[in-house]
Amino acid sequence: MDTIFHKIIRREIPAEIVYEDEHLVAFRDIGPQAPVHVLFVPKQTIPTLDAAGPEHAELIGRLALAAAEYARREGFAEAGYRVVMNCNGHGGQTVYQLHLHLLAGAQLGHFGA
Ligand code: C5P
Repeated sequence: MDTIFHKIIRREIPAEIVYEDEHLVAFRDIGPQAPVHVLFVPKQTIPTLDAAGPEHAELIGRLALAAAEYARREGFAEAGYRVVMNCNGHGGQTVYQLHLHLLAGAQLGHFGA
């Protein structure tokens, strides 16, 4: 399983990486849907949230906590933000390596179908 996000993690294609540790990488979305739009991606291959199991609980928690820490560090935690994981076709997933979207910097609307 290899995706464009694996290539970003391996530095084979460019991305504006804003955070990295041994578990995950975070970079700016190439097509931002809000003034701040950052993707948090685990280094371990997990195609979708549906493919995740209990063994991934800590790693998925790390994605959420890394996003929260980024929001605090960048100064918009109090104003607020949204985190989203799209899963499979109806969820709008286009890259099949699990990732958490962090959206912020403006009043976000309600969403749905
Ligand atoms: O949740 P979904 O799979 O649709 O999200 C994939 C995201 O990856 C999109 O928001 C897209 O803009 C982003 N992307 C990116 N850099 C790439 C390819 C896609 O930031 N090279």
